Amino acid sequence: MNEIVTFGHPSLKSKSVNITEFDEALKKLSERMIKIMYEAPGVGLAAPQIGINKNIFVFDAGEGPNVAVNPKKIEVEGSAVFLEGCLSLPGYYWEIERPEYSKIYCQDINGEDITYEGEELIGRVLQHEYEHLKGKLLLSSLSRKERKEAIKKIALNGFPGNDL
Ligand SMILES: [Zn+2]
Repeated sequence: MNEIVTFGHPSLKSKSVNITEFDEALKKLSERMIKIMYEAPGVGLAAPQIGINKNIFVFDAGEGPNVAVNPKKIEVEGSAVFLEGCLSLPGYYWEIERPEYSKIYCQDINGEDITYEGEELIGRVLQHEYEHLKGKLLLSSLSRKERKEAIKKIALNGFPGNDL
């Protein structure tokens, strides 16, 4: 169906490594990731979600596709609760409290320094995708009890998918 790996795949738990070559292959990878993200459909996709442990993610929080390479720092502020899902946990959503605003320092597809920032959806997507690159999945943002229940549900029902 698609190339997105789901909870349980080792690449989702591994830390990603920095990208050193800003070449044609990197452009191709980013284009492929954007295509997979839109087809899913989703608002963000990190390389580990397609089994590649490299520091790159793509997102579209309503203003067109963006590419973030080698994010080195994220600044956050405020707090908001939002129903959040993940393409690697298709069909599941949880109310998650997170900082409302994020600003991320990274590079663009050509290796130039760039920042992305915003509140609401973009603030959340930036934090979510940044965590993927650190080997962290949405489940770790849940309370212990919620996480236990979630893992049990997944074990019993698998992934119903986003396109029911
Ligand atoms: Zn995700």
